[in-house]
Amino acid sequence: MSDNKLDALKRYFGYDSFRPQQSQIIDTVMENRDCLVLMPTGGGKSVCFQIPAILRQGLTVVISPLIALMKDQVEALRGNGVNAAFLNSTLSSAEQDQVMWQAKVGELKLLYIAPERLFSGNTFEFLREWNVCLFAIDESHCISSWGHDFRPEYRQLTNLKLRFPDVPIIALTATADRVTRRDILKQLNIEHAETFIASFDRPNLNLSVLPGRKRLQQIQSFINKHDGQAGIIYCLSRKGTETVAASLRNAGFKAEFYHAGLAADKRSKVQEQFLRDDIQVIVATIAFGMGIDKSNVRWVIHYNLPSNVESFYQEIGRAGRDGSPSDTVLFYSYMDIITRQDMINNSDQSAEQKELLHAKLNRMKQYAEADICRRRILLSYFNEAVEKDCGNCDVCRNPRTRFDATIIAQKALSGIARTDQKIAMGMLIDILRGSRNRNVLQHGYERLPTFGVGIELRGEEWAEYISQLLNSGVMDIAYDEGHSFKLNPVSRQILKGERKVELVKFIPISERKAKEEEL
Ligand code: ADP
Ligand code: ZN
Repeated sequence: MSDNKLDALKRYFGYDSFRPQQSQIIDTVMENRDCLVLMPTGGGKSVCFQIPAILRQGLTVVISPLIALMKDQVEALRGNGVNAAFLNSTLSSAEQDQVMWQAKVGELKLLYIAPERLFSGNTFEFLREWNVCLFAIDESHCISSWGHDFRPEYRQLTNLKLRFPDVPIIALTATADRVTRRDILKQLNIEHAETFIASFDRPNLNLSVLPGRKRLQQIQSFINKHDGQAGIIYCLSRKGTETVAASLRNAGFKAEFYHAGLAADKRSKVQEQFLRDDIQVIVATIAFGMGIDKSNVRWVIHYNLPSNVESFYQEIGRAGRDGSPSDTVLFYSYMDIITRQDMINNSDQSAEQKELLHAKLNRMKQYAEADICRRRILLSYFNEAVEKDCGNCDVCRNPRTRFDATIIAQKALSGIARTDQKIAMGMLIDILRGSRNRNVLQHGYERLPTFGVGIELRGEEWAEYISQLLNSGVMDIAYDEGHSFKLNPVSRQILKGERKVELVKFIPISERKAKEEEL
């Protein structure tokens, strides 16, 4: 049998050898055992069910939420000589009838179907007549409300195992932490399934975080250094994608924006231009990328902080799928955290769900603020232990040093105290650095004893240290009062000299080693 599967890999997919785990996964499915497969995006999950589908008698039903991709996947299979079809709302009812007929008479090896289609009308009843030999559940984290992309219609899949106890299930996902993983097994009623976890490490991806100031300027010089190389910039909002794309186009780059508000034909046009390298830069919301198979994306920039590590990992994973070195940059400032927190607080989620979202956001914050190897943090999120520092992240290249920053903290805090806790970042820095601008003079702040006491640090250093002070709870911020800074009990202890503070030394970009200095 092992020859069969290798033959199939060569004959239908044109590859000479299996990637780690693929072979064992296929064996497990061929032995009629349920399994759960965790592999990063681009890891090669599809062949894990496509090869068993080819080798087995009967029909493999592939459940996927991504209607837009079904056609491509089916066409790719047909192109390789595999009888496959899909069933979704984009087909006319005559076409749907024809596919159902093909399934019934055994003409098909694989049938792709969205869960809402599977459970509408009497399709589910027809399954019994179709000689189903395998269920493949793609994006299976959608069944769990612990995951980051819960889809209620996936819940109906709970019935699959009950109705078809003898048909093996292979559940696949690129994104599942330990809790989600366990929940997938439970929800699918396959608690005894064999779990395969491929390494999520993508050593070719360089990881870095940059201070979130003058982002556009930093991006432009970044793209200039990545001459002609394709990349994706992820933004939080649709509007953001449009502004960033416009400014890049003004600067002479081939950039386009992409978000779910665009008409379908416009979206597929942009995608295609990107695939053909007619566009160098896509500025997109998270709507972009699900299933985009472009192997030579050389960089991914996050203009804003993603809401959780799973999404972040999936998005940076779109770079370097060909295995060549690729860069990922996350812009980060304390405002990003606040924006995200607001979004959660103002959403109509349940209190329990909000708590979960805050916890997930917090893990993302830990990544952004890390002063240990960032890859360790990323992989530990997926419960993968790492033996040593990666050497391919900004922290590894520029190890952080901590120093006693009590005096810095006292200066900032007394600036806040003397202005009645009414000022935000920009004004605080102006006061500390003694800038006599109109705003400062208007309030008479130039007469404060703290005016100019922080002249020894540059504006960007102050911004970095103030962010760190916020992040470490040394002071608070009132986002409902113009983001003004507030003192808290810790602040007061520090002001009184009863407590010390350590901060991580700021390294100007120009002094950072390799990679970053290219920016
Ligand atoms: P995933 O679904 O895990 O994101 P895919 O199944 O789309 O990933 O596979 C990603 C890419 O890797 C595809 O281009 C696929 O053809 C390729 N691939 C899969 N298995 C192998 C293999 N054994 N050898 C070489 N390439 C492979
Ligand atoms: Zn590292």
